[in-house]
Amino acid sequence: MTNRINEIVLASGNKGKVAEFTHLFEAYNISVHPQSVFEVPDVPETGTTFVENAIIKARHAALLTGLPAIADDSGLVVDALNCEPGIYSARYAGEHGNDGANCEKLLRELGNSENRRAKFLCVLVFMQHAKDPTPIICQGEWHGEITKEASGEGGFGYDPIFYVPSQKATAAELDKSLKNKISHRGQALVSLMQQVKPLLKP
Ligand code: IMP
Repeated sequence: MTNRINEIVLASGNKGKVAEFTHLFEAYNISVHPQSVFEVPDVPETGTTFVENAIIKARHAALLTGLPAIADDSGLVVDALNCEPGIYSARYAGEHGNDGANCEKLLRELGNSENRRAKFLCVLVFMQHAKDPTPIICQGEWHGEITKEASGEGGFGYDPIFYVPSQKATAAELDKSLKNKISHRGQALVSLMQQVKPLLKP
């Protein structure tokens, strides 16, 4: 990389994610902008893996803005459901982002299954430009179990039915900063920062 990176576009409009990346890159004097600032529309996630979808989103944002881009793709993988809902986590019950319906469907599908092992996965991708042939790809995993009923008010998505044995609580019962630190996304972020740092000039 010859040019100094001053700005990065984030292929997401999620306020929590924007705030987290803004904070992480502040130390390098790099501004992070959500793609909505540049009126970048959402791109169809046509991949069949988290990695492909994250690359599709990062490439799209980089192409339309001319800036280096970061994208993430995440979801829940349940052992006894042959890795479902996986990349379809956000729209498992049909409507995109209907967390309540998604949790209900998952509990229904799992029924009384004794194997309740599950993990959250997060893939983060950094592309220096739209034709970057070597995107940086990082992954985080957070292991837990699916409960038999929802518990907790915090978080989002499948948090109320995702039990974290080390904390003896569901993800929705955890303090937000603790969740951000130990979650799949938190782990992927640490890994991404380690790998992106060498590209950033002071
Ligand atoms: P996205 O990649 O952030 O859009 O997440 C995809 C979907 O995976 C979300 O809509 C949630 O259903 C699920 N998901 C991802 N991360 C989490 C999490 O930390 N807690 C609960 N659900 C999550």
